[in-house]
Order: sequence, then C-alpha cells, then structure tokens
Amino acid sequence: MTNTTNQVRVRFAPSPTGRLHIGGARTAIDNWAFARATGGTFILRIEDTDPERSTEENKQVILRAMRWLGLDWDEGPEVGGPFGPYTQMERTETYAAALEQLKASGNAYPCFCTKEEIDAKRAKAQDEEGGYSGYDGTCRNIDPEQAAARIAAGEPHVWRLAVPKDHGPIEFDDAVYGHMSFPAEVMDDLILVRSDGTPTYNFAVVCDDANMKITHVVRGDDHLSNTPRQILIYEALGYPVPTFAHLSMILGADGKKLSKRHGATSVEEYRDRGYLPEAVVNFLALLGWSLDGETTIIPPEVLCREFSLDRITKKDAIFDEAKLDWMNGVYIRELEAQRWYELSKTWLAKAVALGRCVPAGANVVPTPNPADPNAPAPEPIQVTDEALAEAAEFVEANPELFVKIFPQVRERLNRLDDVVDKIAFMFWGKNCRLDQKSFQKQLQKEGSRAVEVLEAVRNLMSDESLAWECDAVQDACKELCAQMEMKPRVFFGNVRVALCGNTVSPPLFELLELMDRATVVARIDGVLELLRS
Ligand code: GLU
Repeated sequence: MTNTTNQVRVRFAPSPTGRLHIGGARTAIDNWAFARATGGTFILRIEDTDPERSTEENKQVILRAMRWLGLDWDEGPEVGGPFGPYTQMERTETYAAALEQLKASGNAYPCFCTKEEIDAKRAKAQDEEGGYSGYDGTCRNIDPEQAAARIAAGEPHVWRLAVPKDHGPIEFDDAVYGHMSFPAEVMDDLILVRSDGTPTYNFAVVCDDANMKITHVVRGDDHLSNTPRQILIYEALGYPVPTFAHLSMILGADGKKLSKRHGATSVEEYRDRGYLPEAVVNFLALLGWSLDGETTIIPPEVLCREFSLDRITKKDAIFDEAKLDWMNGVYIRELEAQRWYELSKTWLAKAVALGRCVPAGANVVPTPNPADPNAPAPEPIQVTDEALAEAAEFVEANPELFVKIFPQVRERLNRLDDVVDKIAFMFWGKNCRLDQKSFQKQLQKEGSRAVEVLEAVRNLMSDESLAWECDAVQDACKELCAQMEMKPRVFFGNVRVALCGNTVSPPLFELLELMDRATVVARIDGVLELLRS
C-alpha cells in the first residue's frame, strides 16, 4: 500500500551520537528543500535510542548547526508539533503499543536465544558450505503458552518480527535508485525490541515515520539495506509504505568515502573556517542534485523553489573543496558590508590583534615557503588573550571603519578568515613586518632608489596641505614618480613594501586613507632607518 496523501511530509532524523557532519547536513538540506519546494512539512526527529552514544550536548550541537545553516523545521524539538514528542526516547509508549499490536496479530514472537547460542549457530552455519548465517527461527515455533510462562518467570528475551514464510520478493520504487527488489527469504526474523525493552532502529523508525505521517523517506544510501526490513514492518503493522529516496555517498577528492582524513567533516568546522551558511547549503545541495546540469550558484531561496527528487543522481558525489572555496567567495562578494562585518568580527579582531602585536620597529621576516618544509618560517606573532579582547572591543566600537574596508578586500576573500592576512598591516601602527624576499627585491637591491623614494613620499605625506584622501595622495605620488623619472611599477612597489611589508596587498591608497596619517609617516621613517643602518 502506498501513501496517497498529496501533502509532502519529510523528516531529518539524526542520531545525537556526534556532530552534524557533511553527509547528514546534505540529507537535511535535501529534505528541507524538498518540503519547501512542495509546500510540505519538514520534521526534525532526534533518534536517541542508543543510550550509550547519544548525548544532550550532541543534540544541542546538531540543532545549532541546523539553525546556522538556516534549515528551519516545522515540527520537532523546540518548536513542537501535532505528532510529538520528536525525540525517540520520549516516544517509548508508541513503540510498546505497536509491539502489542504485532503480538496480537501474531506478527511478533519472543525469542529467548542467548547471544552465545546465536553466535555459535552462526559460526557453524558459516563453516558449512552455503550455510546461511542469519537467525534460524528457533523460537518461532515455541508454543505460545510456554513462551508466556517463560516470560512470566523473568527469562530474558527479545521480540522478533515473524517474517511471512511465503512472502515474495520485497519490492519498492526508490525515487533515486529506481525499482528495487530484495528476496524475502534472506531477511532474518529481525529484532524489534531488545531484551532491555528498547526498540531497535528499524522498529522505532517505522513506528515514527508511520505515526508522523511521513510521505517520503529521504536519507543516505547506507540505509538502503534497511529499507526492505522496514517495509516488512510496515506491512505487519498495516501502515502505508512511504516513498523512499536514497542519497548517494559523498566521496573525497581521492574517491574514498569522506572522512576525517579529508579535513573538516562537521558543519561547525566549516563555520569556524569562515564559510557562509548559504554557500555551504548551495554546495551541499549540489552534491548529488542539479538544477539543470550547469547552474552552480543556487541560493537557498532558489533551492527552496526548484528542488525536486527527480534531479537527484545515484552517482557518488565528490566533495571538491576548491569548488566550495570558490563558491564561498561568490557569496562573500554578494554580502552587504554590514552583514560581512557582523559575520567577520572574530577574524577582524584577530587581524587587529595580530597587527597590534607586531614587534616594535621595522622587522625583516623570512618569506614563508609552503613548498619547502626546511625553509625558515617567520616567527609567529604572539597574540595575548588581552590583546585579542581589546581588539574585539575595537572591532565592536568601529563598525564604520570595517564597513569601509569591505569593498577594498571583498574581491580577495574566498573565506571570511582570509581577511586576517589581508588587513593586519593596517594595524601595525608605526611598526612594519617586512617580508624578506620583497624587502630584498624591492628595497635593498643594487641600484635601488628606495631611500630616495621613501624620503620623498614621506615628505609628501607629512605635508598637512595635502588632503589625506585616496585620490589626492595617489595623484601626488604619481606626479612624484614622474618627476623622479621612475617606472611606476618600481616606485609604487617600493611604497607598497614599506607600508604593507610585501608586494601583495589590497588596494593600497584606498586603505591608507582609512589609516592615520602620522602613523603611516612614522612607519616609513622606521623603514628608512632600517635601510640606512
Ligand atoms: N538516525 C539515522 C541516522 O542517523 C537516520 C535513519 C533514517 O533516516 O531512517 O543514520
């Protein structure tokens, strides 16, 4: 029997045994987008029947990660709903009632076999050629009165589903995998309720999905082998069977199942590394689904309009972090400056603190070379907690400054944390951290006119009659460059290195304008002193 209601009801059912990882987030996104696109209902259900591994903390972490992603649920923890509670351990009565129903209809029976007995039988069966290693049905034939007596005497037992002997193949049409067929003979009389009275995953999931009137079960294909078992339970309970859609695996760039080895795997790690929720949602939605095979930028609101199960592919999806970085950059460039500022505060504070903690005077530090592990690395700057706290206050107190910085750096940010390296120089004060290679190539080289250039620029900038404003300063410098008959590349290269430490920095004069004139002049003085010594 298939569910015939038109109103889509889908659920995301995480087990609170860890953080929300990328695979789970993709499942949540697909369910959410499907509900939104069809005007349906998105339900969040916490599956905590594994008491040893489930924790309240994990549950909170998952809820927070969902909220951060912008996935709102219509029914579930904290919002309630007509089919609650939405946490399995608060629903144990419903499983007990379902078990009673199955007992009464003769579809469930108690099994007294101990684990040791079953293990021994399994081992023996495996030794014999063609031996089938599933449960052999020993307790299925116990006389019901006898079984009742053993239960009354307190003998430990589980409850198993009596899989109909004459059941033909178990078939269903998966929305992703197409027509599926499993032989019923190989289905064990699976356990529904454990000896401690807790329901198994398969049993609880069917009870919940049925009671919550779930129409589509959209989940990872690691559950594909559970589906025929769950269908047997639906049938035994006389519940309508929902439509299933199994999502393919997410693989790392090396073609192996995504895991810790590939780097960050939880949603929170991505948040902490400077990714935007809308970029993560867009990126994950495209793992296994496409709008038209080519569009890559699909903001959440479009996803919520356009998502459909029939565009999910069963091909494994590859997690390409470079693509995520690119996509994140696209979303960053779309941000309103104020929102960027709000989202970036942690990293802005880090940039300010890093800048302020640069040792006094002009310092030359080795050029980092990631390709050569033996190359000397610059001494890391020691940022104290106090400096960080002060920097955070500064960031909090100066939104206008950072809002003005944003247009100058936005083209250069793929992740929010990229801003740290880009703007720390603005907070060096009088000090300067000169990259060795840039210093040698631009300022110290044979025949360099750096001292002459910097002296002239210093005098020009310290002249109060020159407006401290991007265009004015830049034009004056251009004029100076022409007067000195120098190549602009060399002239401005000198200025850039003396002020930012290296040749790569965001638009120089635009950012200088946002700095204090006296500080900039003092910084040039420091570099001049170093060059003359
Ligand atoms: N709690 C299961 C898991 O976290 C979800 C099962 C399902 O979606 O049916 O894998």
